[in-house]
Amino acid sequence: MNMKKLLAALFIVAILAVAAVIIFRQKISPSKNSQNSSKILVTSTIYPLSQLATHTGGDLITSKTIVPSGVEPHDFDPKPQDLVDVFESKVFIHSGTALEPWVEKIRADLESRGVVMVDASKGLNLIKGNDGVDPHYWLDPVLFQQSAITVRNALLAADPSRSSDYKLNSDKFIAKLIELDNAYKKKLFSCNQDTVVVSHNVLAYLANRYKFKVRSITGLSPNEEATSQSIADTVELLKTNNIRFVLAESLMPSKYADTLAKEAAVKTLLFNPLEGLTKEEVQQNADYFSVQYFNINTLATALECLKS
Ligand SMILES: [Zn+2]
Repeated sequence: MNMKKLLAALFIVAILAVAAVIIFRQKISPSKNSQNSSKILVTSTIYPLSQLATHTGGDLITSKTIVPSGVEPHDFDPKPQDLVDVFESKVFIHSGTALEPWVEKIRADLESRGVVMVDASKGLNLIKGNDGVDPHYWLDPVLFQQSAITVRNALLAADPSRSSDYKLNSDKFIAKLIELDNAYKKKLFSCNQDTVVVSHNVLAYLANRYKFKVRSITGLSPNEEATSQSIADTVELLKTNNIRFVLAESLMPSKYADTLAKEAAVKTLLFNPLEGLTKEEVQQNADYFSVQYFNINTLATALECLKS
């Protein structure tokens, strides 16, 4: 076990201990919230999964997201209060991938406490890359419909008295996802370029669905360092294919995109992989759909698609 892994393990033991103490205290004197509210608490690890909860649960639920907005979720570690929220929730939604390795460490405790655990990737054909399973499936509006059904079923099981409301919300949500899929198809229908260049490998699902190619400078985690070879190869690709744009991600420093922009004389465009919202997006009341429509336009520009 290397030092980083050891520290991570010790960290988890420590937060579990703190969480256990807080939960024990709350058992002795239950908080007012849990007594009065008829809304069920649904926690989600990351932003796009909380969108499954809020679009399906509406105002029947209280939704909490563990990774705060503005924070990049790869390598995120939850704080003790985050774990208390998870332990107190009726339903807990996670990505089912290596994005949240801490989920497996608390699984048995959550199950014994009766928390309904939802793997939002259940039943999906996940893409496997050289460095593991690609977690970014929420960007694909077709796959996300399956996740929406999984979450709906979990809410129906956890709170059956309001099943007709959940079903109604869920039908509307899925209709909006179908509309989004149609918008992607329409906008990316006929394009002069076939390759999108992006900093970390977030586009595999969209590329599969809407038939374009992706060159990413690093792999599935944005915390990797790019090799100078990978940067040189990408500059070469940009030049030989006359590609005019590279994508920079909203929550990440744009150092690689900036390097490419300088070396290959291309422009950078912002793309939000929906791992979280920026402060500005929160202020503008952005959600999964507004960000996705923004992303469609970014991709259509990068791929030089014909306006329809
Ligand atoms: Zn990512």
